[in-house]
Amino acid sequence: MKSVLDYIDANRDRFVDELVEWVRIPSVSSEPARAPDVRANADHLAAHLRGLGAGRIEVWPTAGHPAVFAEWLRAPGKPTLLVYGHHDVQPVDPLGEWITPPFEPAVREGRLWGRGVVDDKGQVYVHAKAVEAFVRTAGAPPINLKLLVEGEEEVGSVNLDALMREHTADLAADFVCVSDTAMFGRGIPSLCVGLRGLAYVEVFVDGPAFDLHSGSFGGGVANPVNALAKMIASLHDADGRVTVTGFYDDVRPLTATERAEIASLPFDEKAWLASTGAPATVGEKGYSTLERIWARPTLDCCGIGGGFQGEGAKTIIPARVSAKVSCRLVPDQDPDDVMRKLGEHLRRIAPPGVRVRVETLHGARPYLAPTDHPVYEVAKRAFSKAFGKPTVFMREGGSIPFVRTIADATGKPCLLMGFGQPDENAHAPNEWLDLSNYHLGIKSAAHLYDEIAHMGESGGKSG
Ligand SMILES: [Zn+2]
Repeated sequence: MKSVLDYIDANRDRFVDELVEWVRIPSVSSEPARAPDVRANADHLAAHLRGLGAGRIEVWPTAGHPAVFAEWLRAPGKPTLLVYGHHDVQPVDPLGEWITPPFEPAVREGRLWGRGVVDDKGQVYVHAKAVEAFVRTAGAPPINLKLLVEGEEEVGSVNLDALMREHTADLAADFVCVSDTAMFGRGIPSLCVGLRGLAYVEVFVDGPAFDLHSGSFGGGVANPVNALAKMIASLHDADGRVTVTGFYDDVRPLTATERAEIASLPFDEKAWLASTGAPATVGEKGYSTLERIWARPTLDCCGIGGGFQGEGAKTIIPARVSAKVSCRLVPDQDPDDVMRKLGEHLRRIAPPGVRVRVETLHGARPYLAPTDHPVYEVAKRAFSKAFGKPTVFMREGGSIPFVRTIADATGKPCLLMGFGQPDENAHAPNEWLDLSNYHLGIKSAAHLYDEIAHMGESGGKSG
């Protein structure tokens, strides 16, 4: 490993320069006019990987933007690792808020600034440069390595399912590594092991056929706004628990070990609260803030609209009102099941005199990594070797649908090994990549390949 790590040190600046060249290509997947740029972006990556002079490199067309596939299968008998990343980027609006232009990457304060530097081009290059270090010093990576870099992550990975079905054999692997997330805190190597799912519905409450005079009719018919407010208010009890019948049926409780792990994280609750601007933390009784946002299901009314919203006073019994209600889900809740239970519950609790209709909007399944698999210990060790600190397990309160897609399609353990920082402005103006994270990320990836190559040998590898 010494020659590999020395190579990474010796080429530290060039690795940044090469990333800069790639970031210049405006691969915004959501803008139809940028489609040729997304294509050029895929070609640039493929050409760069071909330049290493080893491996099989292909650009895979899809019904939308192309993906890049690369493989280095030069380690017979060793495990195969599939690395996932994406080469498309978010739009740049509002452009005026960028200190330097999004596609003219600039280095300031030890950071590289530009659209896509961390989400996800820098993280793709972390792996590309680790591969390069092995190719240049040893001829090939020490494991069988596959790299899938899609071009549609920022538009919902619409063709990823089809792509994975079409190339099942190409993508076969023992483990999957996704590098597209942020660390728990600055310089803390973190493996994300859980993602929440989503169940989103819209509820419509109808009363009279049209808005009525509240003087002439008030007291005589039900008011849909009053009714919906009452319904929503009843969806939590005094302890902050969701009252929807059967809501917690499939919730896998946190184990004592998981709770201890979460409690041991250096979580600065005051700073976290300050970052929200809210006056206090609030939530389900009996759980810490991190437990509540990572590992407990929640229900929130995301918006409500109906009745008179104009200036001044207008006295009516509104005809109708609606609200959008979303639930964040944890293992083993199923979005379809929760949406059904929520719909039934809302119809059941409707007060007399109104009609209730519930439409389902969107669902996503939660994800929990099989952390008892030995590859998680291996990844922890690799990450810690590069950063010189213990690796923590963290979770993410949001949903990353493609992780489920990949985990389900491959049926293999999926490592969420991210090299971003929590405040790096992904998706916002002034996106940045910490250049020391980039450098140590490349070393982490190299250690990961090396550690996986020695899996199963007693006590792992320490050299
Ligand atoms: Zn991303």
